[in-house]
Amino acid sequence: MFHTFKRYVLVSSVLLLAACGTVQQTTVSSATGVTRAQKFSIPAAQFNAASANAYMSLLGSAKQQGVLNTDKVLTKRVRLITARLVQQAPVLRPDSGNWPWQVAVLSSDELNAACYPDGKMFIYSGLITRLKLTDDEIAQVMGHEISHALREHSREGASQQQNSNLLVGLLDVAGQVAGYKGVGDLANVGAQVGFNLPFNRAHETEADQMGIEIAARAGYNPDAAASLWRKMQAESGAGGSDFFSTHPSSSDRQANLAALADTVRPLYVSAKKK
Ligand SMILES: [Zn+2]
Repeated sequence: MFHTFKRYVLVSSVLLLAACGTVQQTTVSSATGVTRAQKFSIPAAQFNAASANAYMSLLGSAKQQGVLNTDKVLTKRVRLITARLVQQAPVLRPDSGNWPWQVAVLSSDELNAACYPDGKMFIYSGLITRLKLTDDEIAQVMGHEISHALREHSREGASQQQNSNLLVGLLDVAGQVAGYKGVGDLANVGAQVGFNLPFNRAHETEADQMGIEIAARAGYNPDAAASLWRKMQAESGAGGSDFFSTHPSSSDRQANLAALADTVRPLYVSAKKK
């Protein structure tokens, strides 16, 4: 009875939210031309609070399984690179200077990384060790993920779904997460409730554009973006890696990245001089 009532109220809220979606300027002054107008029908406070719960549950489960930040050297390396990138984020989104940025390294052979709303990130160790990533290439991965967060692609994607079950699931997420076991399953909970839906091509293109720019501003070589994708494709054969499942690729992605590298090279050269 109570459950039915709760669902009725939530579905009503969804319809109301869908009816009054707002246009919001998430980022500013992109040197790579990211200016697309975005519309959101799920409030940020609600979405980000639920996603923070999911992230904390993910870390808790990873710790229990003994896979959270176990490689101290690798964790320190990822954190140093990410900190340099995060320093540049306010150039593109001023309020991100106050975000609770954090990154965890999860021991797993999977090839993936993700950034939840508010800058809560994780990367699987396998992405770095299996592909033998350089610091410049790690910076491209993390810059790409940071960009998804700055542009709030998860919340935008969930808003576009306008799916009442999705939002009901989102609001119940803390309870759901408690029922899952493996780290992979936990990450998938995010997919089910909208934090980690497969991004669409427009989102991927924006994250590529903004990611390579952030990395260049932080002094990381923009040519590493194309080399990262070459390694990713070689390792995953016909594009079947975990990363490609949540980050759909296009056939001209490498050509686009090469062109973007030329666009942001002056930012990289100037950052290296400092
Ligand atoms: Zn992506």
